Amino acid sequence: MNPEQFTQKEDTIVALSTPSGSGAIGVIRVSGKDTFAVCDQVFYGKTLSEQASHTVHFGTIRNDEGQIIDEVVAALFKAPRSFTKEDVIEVSCHGSQYIIQQVIQLLIGKGARLAKAGEFTQRAYLNGRMDLAQAEAIADLIASDSKAAHQVAMKQMRGGFSKKITQLREEFTKLAALLELELDFSEEDVEFANRDEMQRQLNHLKTAVTDMAQSFALGNAIKNGVPVAIVGKPNAGKSTLLNALLQEDKAIVSAIPGTTRDSIEDEVVLEGIRFRFIDTAGLRETADEVESIGIARAFAKMKESQILLYMFDAVEEKREDWQAQVAQLQADHPDTKVIVVANKIDEYARFDLFLPDGVVGCGISAKEHQQIDRLQQLLIEAVQAHQLSNQDQVIVTNLRHYEALQDTLKALAQVQQTLDLGLSTEMVASDIRTAIYHLGEITGQISNNDLLEFIFSKFCIGK
Ligand code: GDP
Repeated sequence: MNPEQFTQKEDTIVALSTPSGSGAIGVIRVSGKDTFAVCDQVFYGKTLSEQASHTVHFGTIRNDEGQIIDEVVAALFKAPRSFTKEDVIEVSCHGSQYIIQQVIQLLIGKGARLAKAGEFTQRAYLNGRMDLAQAEAIADLIASDSKAAHQVAMKQMRGGFSKKITQLREEFTKLAALLELELDFSEEDVEFANRDEMQRQLNHLKTAVTDMAQSFALGNAIKNGVPVAIVGKPNAGKSTLLNALLQEDKAIVSAIPGTTRDSIEDEVVLEGIRFRFIDTAGLRETADEVESIGIARAFAKMKESQILLYMFDAVEEKREDWQAQVAQLQADHPDTKVIVVANKIDEYARFDLFLPDGVVGCGISAKEHQQIDRLQQLLIEAVQAHQLSNQDQVIVTNLRHYEALQDTLKALAQVQQTLDLGLSTEMVASDIRTAIYHLGEITGQISNNDLLEFIFSKFCIGK
């Protein structure tokens, strides 16, 4: 469906665009065709509608009795040179809840209505300021709390991701057009779309879409933190390590609420990447019922993790034992990066860790803070190994986009099957159209009201 069909056109909307609570200033945003008419009725000092776009003006806001509510600054943006492409005024007033309430009430009294969650951004999208993926990136940008999350959201907002999707969509469309041409001339038995060439193109598209879909594991990790489970026998020093890691990053320590004693989650940002550490209950065979519940949870946590830190006590544990444990972990979690950590090396004058081939790890002393930086480096490398190395790479961070890419891949598999079976060109063309449809869902070329409502309702009011 065409986005223009949903334009809300008539209403002029208003909302506080800065966080509620007491800040030094609060910014109230008004957008819509009556913005100037509404604001002129409460703003004193100048007639705003007579001023040029992209100018700021000092004045007072007064109520119907002529009482001054606040001294404010109004910034003017005339359509279409505004965020929503509509007439927009941003009123900066003092940050008191009372003042903000009063000003918004006054504006509503003069004909504006309170904006719904995400409605400003929704209008920006509907009026063609940006596509859907870019609008979603704005929410991510506002929420970004680490360098990597910020980088990815910024790139998406500036359209890198959308460009890639649009480019893919064009390639698909060309292919579909060729096939349809062939259909039109089918009686004449002409094969316009050379089958080898089509196969080559299909493979290319499949690789491109698969790469994007696969980047979601990383994108999700950047957005929500890379889950790292610390596992090992009781007394290996897991809690001590967690404390050491958190101490090195005092500024950004945050315990995640709602976690139970048997698996504590804490976050540390290392070189712009957020790691979410999960200290699991010590792994061992046990007859104790409560402890076994803890262990079952530990196993569940390990499944969710992207990195497993296997920690052992270098004094107590024999090499055969820990190597067997590591081999077992790798076999049980083939998609998870395992890092081996030998703890308590302070007990040795000199410590050598003999790592099996293909296993990374290091010796540390959690208690004495020895080699913690080496471990941090290994963690960063584990994430970077399949990320950000290529600055042009597009990273999918949004579940909705990931699902659309999966649907595209399903449609592609269908295309392949139809081709392999030598079925009619008509069917191939229809499968390709399905793939194009799913790609279009990402940028909003294909959208529907429910989807839009869903996406924008996740924004806060005022965004
Ligand atoms: P967890 O059961 O794996 O969480 O282990 P803890 O962190 O509770 O540590 C178990 C014991 O090992 C405690 O007495 C710690 O003080 C001790 N410990 C932890 N790390 C080190 C270390 O690097 N060197 C030494 N010598 N002892 C440590």
